[in-house]
Amino acid sequence: MKNWGDSRKGARKGRLVGFPRLKSRRRSAPTVRFTTGVIRVEADRRHITLPRLGALRLHESARKLARRVEAGSARILSATLRREGRRWFVSLTCEVQRATCIPARAGSVVGVDLGVKHLAVLSTGEQIPNPHHLVAASRRMRRLARAVTRCVTPDRRVHRAGSKRWVRAQDALARTNARVANLRRNGLHQFTTRLTREHGTVVVEDLNVAGMLRNRRLARHIADAGFGELRRQLAYKTEWNGGRLVTADRWYPSSKTCSGCGAVKTKLALSERTYACTACGLILDRDLNAALNLTALASEVADARSGRESSNGRGADRKTLLAGLVAAKRLPGTAKAGQTGTVPPQGGTTNRVLSKAHGTVTVGGRP
Ligand SMILES: [Zn+2]
Repeated sequence: MKNWGDSRKGARKGRLVGFPRLKSRRRSAPTVRFTTGVIRVEADRRHITLPRLGALRLHESARKLARRVEAGSARILSATLRREGRRWFVSLTCEVQRATCIPARAGSVVGVDLGVKHLAVLSTGEQIPNPHHLVAASRRMRRLARAVTRCVTPDRRVHRAGSKRWVRAQDALARTNARVANLRRNGLHQFTTRLTREHGTVVVEDLNVAGMLRNRRLARHIADAGFGELRRQLAYKTEWNGGRLVTADRWYPSSKTCSGCGAVKTKLALSERTYACTACGLILDRDLNAALNLTALASEVADARSGRESSNGRGADRKTLLAGLVAAKRLPGTAKAGQTGTVPPQGGTTNRVLSKAHGTVTVGGRP
């Protein structure tokens, strides 16, 4: 209600927020959250006791959590039950005392360029393939969706319930969707865990995912890649593993800058897969060039902030970013000089200037 009111008065940024709609049992996934009462993992570690529902058998063992609870290093705060596909899940929100960790290579910096062709290209030269889970399942999903509509579907105008075949068809489609989501989540978790356990500093771009999803040709592929979730996981996992996440400004030209000499191109079409520098003649894979630029950015950020923590909790908020993180732009020709200069403002971009011990650091960004 507040968002709707603020949006009407113009006190809220972004697109207009509509009046809240009632949550419908038909439209939303079945879920229930318990915050009070007895929530505990049983001694056999195979059952969980929830208020009103009693003991429920778990598919996976809750051994790790139970050990922590017994040792006193974790406390269960709430439990959320939800159904996905045909399975019921319980998520336990816990307060956990984590042991302090350091990444395997604490001093190493890795730039991560996200994309659709490859899910990620690392500055080490490694390419993470994009598995395209949704595309892989789309044929099967189309067939299942067709089967659903060909059954006797529910119609509330004539008080008709869906047929048993409709329920079965619906169930098959839901399970396929859940499987795609599971595969995607698993792949992202393995990638982000590996990255944050190994490298001390991870540098990513601040992508405007919501904006990119409005591109009707790319939306499906961007949603399928899961950039938003990847960024979210990197933000908390770098913190867990004792590393830090540096987010490049949204307007930082990571693809257009030459990683060799620092020259910035004014135009670079998406179809140009290799970067060819007109200033120094460097020829490099486009995404690798961007990843290398992101790596270079991290050292400048560390310079400018003299070691202050630059990860930001959720890693998404622009306001927090401007307040907390300095993303310096590079001036052509001064790439390795140890000083950073001002880049002339590009289309609609203004520069914020912060003073530094020697010289000036510029923050690219909008007012
Ligand atoms: Zn160059």
